[in-house]
Amino acid sequence: MDRSKYDVIIGLEIHIQTKTKSKMFCSCPTNYFNNEPNTHVCPTCLGLPGALPVPNKRAIELCILMGLATQCDIHNEIHFDRKHYFYPDLPKGYQISQYKRAICSDGYIDIDDEDGKNFRIEIERIHQEEDVAKSTHHIESSTSSEYTLIDYNKSGVPLIEIVTKPNIQSAYQAKEYATKIRQLARYLNVSDADMEKGQMRCEPNISVQEKGKWEYKDGKILPKGGYKLNAKVEVKNIGSISAVEKSIIYEIDRLIKEIEEGKEIVQQTRGWDANKGITVFQRSKETADDYRYMPDPDIPVIEIEESDIARIKQEMVELPDEKIKRYKEEYNLSQYDAQVLTSDRNISVYYESTLALVSKKIEILKAAKATANWLTGAVFSIASDNNLEITDENIAQDDIATLIIEFEEKVLTRNKAEELLRESIESKKDLGDLIESAKKEAKDITGNIDEIVQQVIDSNPKAVDDYKAGKDASIAYLVGQVMQKTKGSADPNSTRSILIEKING
Ligand SMILES: [Zn+2]
Repeated sequence: MDRSKYDVIIGLEIHIQTKTKSKMFCSCPTNYFNNEPNTHVCPTCLGLPGALPVPNKRAIELCILMGLATQCDIHNEIHFDRKHYFYPDLPKGYQISQYKRAICSDGYIDIDDEDGKNFRIEIERIHQEEDVAKSTHHIESSTSSEYTLIDYNKSGVPLIEIVTKPNIQSAYQAKEYATKIRQLARYLNVSDADMEKGQMRCEPNISVQEKGKWEYKDGKILPKGGYKLNAKVEVKNIGSISAVEKSIIYEIDRLIKEIEEGKEIVQQTRGWDANKGITVFQRSKETADDYRYMPDPDIPVIEIEESDIARIKQEMVELPDEKIKRYKEEYNLSQYDAQVLTSDRNISVYYESTLALVSKKIEILKAAKATANWLTGAVFSIASDNNLEITDENIAQDDIATLIIEFEEKVLTRNKAEELLRESIESKKDLGDLIESAKKEAKDITGNIDEIVQQVIDSNPKAVDDYKAGKDASIAYLVGQVMQKTKGSADPNSTRSILIEKING
């Protein structure tokens, strides 16, 4: 199989449930997770005849917020359409969605490519729609008869669909893009985007074309000369970011193999079997005509004023890309540190508030680097060992700031500081108290350090002679002896100086 003969073309559709109190077109609550089935329902979300939809203003605001964060144009008229298809999880026989006009269109997101270069993924549209119910399939063990249960709690939950243009070129880019969309949704509090709970689902469409025989123009793939484009394949409802990447890699290989065997690719929808790591055929793809789209006559056109957009803009927060840039410029952090500290908004808030405390005592650039080192190192690793989220309640910021300051001012050694941090987390002791008593102990020891060094010299005459005879390694042994006697509280560098001074003196 000669992969180098082909280009890969990928478009990605991502569905995200937005965080509203009530559903998209009725007042049923959206917090259905782990609730009894069919307890969050009413005539509207059950699709009963005569029930009328009332659009959820907050859901539309969140859709616009996501559009603003991805540099989209925001349209001043909102139209809702009916998308018809028949399936038990859709009781009305149609889903309320948006067809020709989406609320947001023509945006983009920049990602880092595999080689670290910037790559721009173009967004075609972000539209508002409603979620469908949840069906689960069962087999009766005694009779082997099959049946399906439907829970309408999810029916009518607000959903936004973010659709890219087909300008993604690899599984890696698709994975990075999906990761960034999830990060944006969380930063903006548009959604928790928890994929295990189905709050975010991805659907890549993939085709492979012979190199040089096609071009990308105005968001479309066009054939060159007499070339006939290969059809694309869509993989439905992927529930994890790693599966987005794996399913695309699998599909690329499968498609190239089919083409090399002379088979024609048929436009189709496939599913991802996570256990087997393969895609499986589901159905040949419907076209837009099959859905018989029509404007929803129950929902009037909604006007969006400039003042509405200005108001929604006030909810915009500093996004990860801007934060990374600022951390590098203002704090002189490395790209890696800046990325790690901004990967989650709560972490960046924690970093900034801890830094504000540390920089009261320590010069800002030094404080910024020290705080970054402590958080990405010991704090993250000890917190993760104990399954603890990094929050002020779990690990008090002012205690971490004190720990960093005492380390920087050489009152506590790194080992001692890490030991205190671990002890406070593992035995739920107050870190501030632990630091205070360690400081007191350190002070007592520092007061006695001359005495302890002298004891070590007196009881290790051979090591002292070796050092005098030019064996430098002996000094490390003597420093170790002092560290042991002081339970790690002495500063190794100053201990070394005192030792050398005394031996030579
Ligand atoms: Zn309802």
